[in-house]
Amino acid sequence: MILQVAVPSPLRRWFDYLPPKDTDPAILQPGMRLRLPFGRRTLVGVLCAIRTHSAVDPARLKAVLAVLDSEPLLPTPELRLLLWAQQYYHHAPGEVIQTALPKLLRQGQPAVAQRQAVWQLTTAGQTALAEDKLNRAPKQREVAELLQAQAAGVSAEQLRLIVPNALPAVRQLLEKGWVVSTSARCQITPRSATAPRLSAAQQQAIDQVDGVLGRFRAFLLDGVTGSGKTEVYLQLIERVIQRGEQILVLVPEISLTPQLLHRFECRLPVPLAVLHSALSARERLNAWLAARSGEARVVIGTRSAVFVPLQRLGLILIDEEHDPSFKQQEGFRYHARDLAVVRAQQAKIPVLLGSATPALESVHNVARGRYQRLALPERVGGARPPHVQTLDLRGQTLDEGLALPLIARIRDHLQRGEQALLFVNRRGYSPTLMCHECGWLGNCQHCDARLTLHLRRQRLICHHCGHIQPLPRHCPDCGSVDLRALGEGTERIEQALQRHFPEVGIARIDRDSTRRRGSLQQLLDDVHGGVRPLLLGTQMLAKGHHFPEVTLVAIINADQGLFSADYRASERLAQMIVQVAGRAGRAEKPGVVLIQTHHPQHPLLQQLAQSGYAAFATQALAERQATQLPPYTYQVLLRAEAEQASAAQDFLAQAAALGQPLTEDVEFLGPVPAPMERRAGRYRAQLLLQAHQRLSLHSFLQTWLEELDALPAGRRVRWSVDVDPIDLF
Ligand code: ADP
Ligand code: ZN
Ligand code: ZN
Repeated sequence: MILQVAVPSPLRRWFDYLPPKDTDPAILQPGMRLRLPFGRRTLVGVLCAIRTHSAVDPARLKAVLAVLDSEPLLPTPELRLLLWAQQYYHHAPGEVIQTALPKLLRQGQPAVAQRQAVWQLTTAGQTALAEDKLNRAPKQREVAELLQAQAAGVSAEQLRLIVPNALPAVRQLLEKGWVVSTSARCQITPRSATAPRLSAAQQQAIDQVDGVLGRFRAFLLDGVTGSGKTEVYLQLIERVIQRGEQILVLVPEISLTPQLLHRFECRLPVPLAVLHSALSARERLNAWLAARSGEARVVIGTRSAVFVPLQRLGLILIDEEHDPSFKQQEGFRYHARDLAVVRAQQAKIPVLLGSATPALESVHNVARGRYQRLALPERVGGARPPHVQTLDLRGQTLDEGLALPLIARIRDHLQRGEQALLFVNRRGYSPTLMCHECGWLGNCQHCDARLTLHLRRQRLICHHCGHIQPLPRHCPDCGSVDLRALGEGTERIEQALQRHFPEVGIARIDRDSTRRRGSLQQLLDDVHGGVRPLLLGTQMLAKGHHFPEVTLVAIINADQGLFSADYRASERLAQMIVQVAGRAGRAEKPGVVLIQTHHPQHPLLQQLAQSGYAAFATQALAERQATQLPPYTYQVLLRAEAEQASAAQDFLAQAAALGQPLTEDVEFLGPVPAPMERRAGRYRAQLLLQAHQRLSLHSFLQTWLEELDALPAGRRVRWSVDVDPIDLF
């Protein structure tokens, strides 16, 4: 008996082991974890298959040290999905399997949920608080007040974040009987919101999906922002719950907000598990186990949740399916949306992809008949879509990047008591610092990139590698003090707005202004409460939020996306404009969207302004077809990077030579230096493979990668394979 094991190692291969000596081999099943000797180390691997023979001489095989699970940790369907993904993405099996396991399980800890204790305030505690009995124990009072506000209870972990060093106070409260400890794993909130009456389009979408529960079908829910997509998800979830099945909901990290969770919790009185990056290792394991056992009926998570084991999966939902964050950009480079469709197919259940700006791949899949389109063409409540216009910057006087007519429009809207939102695609003060005397530019010493000026922090920061240096007072080359900031980031626009509207509250929302816990929420509350009617920010504004009082949306700088070397840039720009535009307005107050540009005649902007996203998508797909780019062809990107300038290119040149003669249909483009050749001190290059048939590309890869793995030059560089790359940088 030979055990084929996925060992946590970057090697693109399986490892064979013999069964453990003192264990009955009959108990072994694929999906169980094994403790193994590996070189001089002991590792935790996952048994993936049991075979009768090995390519390695059995006398040289080592025996497994211990079996860590009494039943498969990864059940057969999930293991099957992982093996499919391993083959499709041609990635190291060990790393693929690792992606599916919470950290504590990767480390070999037992797969048992430690019910997390939560503390709750007792009735006696509430009385004590009301009678001011805790006034002389401020810490205890602080804890009691917090618990009073959180009826579901607060865990030690949560408490630690809110009240530092609270444990002694908790102990005293426990002794007095004013606080009790209970255990909770999934939270159940009693239903507190009722469902609205569905529109005809919503009803139709739900009926279509409902009609195929228990069978595979992929749907694209193509609904403008505010058209009630989330409502469709909620009511579908209710139907699947009634069938006794579980639902997996995938969302982009950035939209997994407390508001979204609250909306789900209020509507779905069932145990809910949430998987996202901010969880502690223990919380993550608990949520994972609750999903696996079937206890959690709805599982909401980001990208990697696509692999979570679910006992009785009945439906998969993917919100904002166009979002690039569904693609993992390092290590095991998988696309969670694509894998979700495969998972649904394997599990014979429907999958619903929702977006106001569907990926061109998905639009194409509808055209090919692979996905069925469900449309929600109108906003709920009859709100009209915002009116999109370009604002011609040519010949205009600009004040810190703001055209004077834009400033006048902002003033108009504010005077009417309405709100305005400005989208700026960069944080910091300006993307470049230049010496006006000699032309010196503030470049990153590790990257082919400019340092971003952060005026408030008085720093130059590289947004690519994180390098930070103090702001120079003089030019390092000529000593001149005439250093000038070129271009605009959010900080600079904020200052300009403060100058023009000194009396008006401004909310700047970007990664810098929201670093502190709770600060984003505070800013959003101020916007909704009308304290800050002027709103500006980055991508963070483009998702999830709705600002009904906003009637003017301005895109400050759209032009970069129009002329990028990356053929996906125009798709991203169009999605971004439409998503930002969708944050604004409501029925009585339709919105206006102004796009500042030096290229008002650009076909992309024209198309968007006149006909909307669907027309843009049709045109963009026609261009992709004419130029034979995805989704009409299939791509694989071989990337390499090294500290020596030529090593990466050398490796790729050897790789390209190994591929000759090329299989028919497979084409090589490159090798070429990456558009940003040096990053974080490494030189990067890439070789693009393209084919008309997925199959020819994959069978070519199969043999070619084996040869690459054996190439000595490969050991002097870091290299990786990216199947269906979405980013060529
Ligand atoms: P989307 O997810 O497409 O942006 P939502 O589902 O969030 O849209 O709906 C937008 C708003 O309209 C929400 O406040 C939601 O509660 C409300 N809503 C959705 N469907 C209906 C409906 N049929 N009738 C009334 N209000 C609705
Ligand atoms: Zn100078
Ligand atoms: Zn850098």
